[in-house]
Amino acid sequence: MTEVTNHQYPVGSEQRPLRTAIVGSGPSGFYAAEALLQQEDVVVDVDIFDRLPTPYGLVRFGVAPDHQKIKNVIRVYERTAAHPRFRFFGNVQFGRDLQAEDLTAHYDQVVFAVGNETDRRLNIPGESFDGSYTATAFVAWYNGHPDYVNAHFNLDHRRVVVVGIGNVAMDVARVLAKSTDELAKTDISDYALESLRKSRVKEIVILGRRGAAQAAFTPKEIKEIGSLDGVDLVVDPADVALDEDSRKLLADSKQARQNVTYLTEKSGEGLGTNPKKVFLRLLRSPVEITGENGKVAGVKIEKNVLYKDDTGSLRPRGTDEYETLSCGAVFRSVGYHGVPLPGVPFHEKWGIIPNERGRVIDPKTRKFVPGQYVVGWMKRGPSGLVGDNKPDSAETVRCMMEDIDGKVAPVSENMQPQAVERLLSSRNIVYLTFADWKKLDSLETENGKKAGKVRDKFVSLSDMLNAVGK
Ligand code: NAP
Repeated sequence: MTEVTNHQYPVGSEQRPLRTAIVGSGPSGFYAAEALLQQEDVVVDVDIFDRLPTPYGLVRFGVAPDHQKIKNVIRVYERTAAHPRFRFFGNVQFGRDLQAEDLTAHYDQVVFAVGNETDRRLNIPGESFDGSYTATAFVAWYNGHPDYVNAHFNLDHRRVVVVGIGNVAMDVARVLAKSTDELAKTDISDYALESLRKSRVKEIVILGRRGAAQAAFTPKEIKEIGSLDGVDLVVDPADVALDEDSRKLLADSKQARQNVTYLTEKSGEGLGTNPKKVFLRLLRSPVEITGENGKVAGVKIEKNVLYKDDTGSLRPRGTDEYETLSCGAVFRSVGYHGVPLPGVPFHEKWGIIPNERGRVIDPKTRKFVPGQYVVGWMKRGPSGLVGDNKPDSAETVRCMMEDIDGKVAPVSENMQPQAVERLLSSRNIVYLTFADWKKLDSLETENGKKAGKVRDKFVSLSDMLNAVGK
């Protein structure tokens, strides 16, 4: 334990470790922790805070339950958590339990790793009808996120529409289409499984506003849909026909080439004979969600063509040709969006914390905010796979190291590791340590084993706290 002293030590020395707080324990937060704790010449204390009692953010609540292999990355995070200078504070919410000033008082540097907590909107009429859902909510619901346990998704219709052709849209379509017997073996939440078992959905129509060469999904994800048992992936050959500019794109993008090849192949297979269908409709934009008695009844869609904008990108433009698809639910899956944090700069339009290489920038003064950093989707926007966060977080940590170079500081009362624990206790904030989480983790896997699934997640905060005796 470091003694309180007025003596000035180099920040990052044994006597005066660099004190860092990370807000958010998803992949970007854990990669930042890893990069900090791997510093050879700098001694770093890392405290990671999460508003939920459980760590891992989107690995737990975003990655689909039938993609367990992606979740294996947790083993890497567990190695980071085993470091003696790492601490986890679960169930502690920034802006509610701890304010920006609290963190500034107890840490030299704070890293925001909170991800993007909401979704982009389509901004078309009818978006607020009952039955118009966000993919973010649906994903959080089937993954047992405590905030979404009571959400309701009406699957009592033959047809639903998914808007957007990114990987999240693929997850949503796949979970809606997949055999529930297969899903039952995963860590999908029980209530979601029950609801999916009762689902009457037989047709899932996915709408992409641009063409096959611009699809945001990765080849693996679309092929997975095309090979689901009991499901036909149906693509109209006219939709995969490429204009000249799109054809040119193929030379530079392996993903586009693979997607176009696969979809062209699929488009030759017709309607198929399986009981469930996933229709991929390209160059189609929803222009209105139609309703009856406040409930979704259909989607009016417009056919698009592509044009080159000033930057050379291929954008969709409506052709005034419309059709209306009847359906009972619409899942918009057009990207996530950040939510502002109290006391932290925010760029409304981009939905991120303004920054340069991870150093937070005050938009008014255009100057860096001392001691504030950002990683992950809040830094660069909602793109990339789990592993893409590693180099992104490492870049921010490099800036953090540059910024302490040559700095000296005393060991003040607040900069002692116990000071934060005292602060939380003085505010009656019940927090979970990493050891508490490991206990929950064991209970979840044990209960899962008994139920014949990989994990049986706790979904209520009070159950989690009770289970660890808090
Ligand atoms: P995304 O990859 O950015 O895809 C968003 C989709 O929404 C695009 O097809 C986009 O079309 C479309 N879109 C945006 N605005 C629209 C509008 N107004 N009308 C119609 N369509 C609109 O986002 P995401 O699917 O949310 O995924 C986020 C990140 O997580 C991605 O990097 C993704 O790969 C990753 N992820 C990976 C996995 C996995 O590996 N299995 C699973 C889930 C998510 P345009 O291209 O025309 O803009």
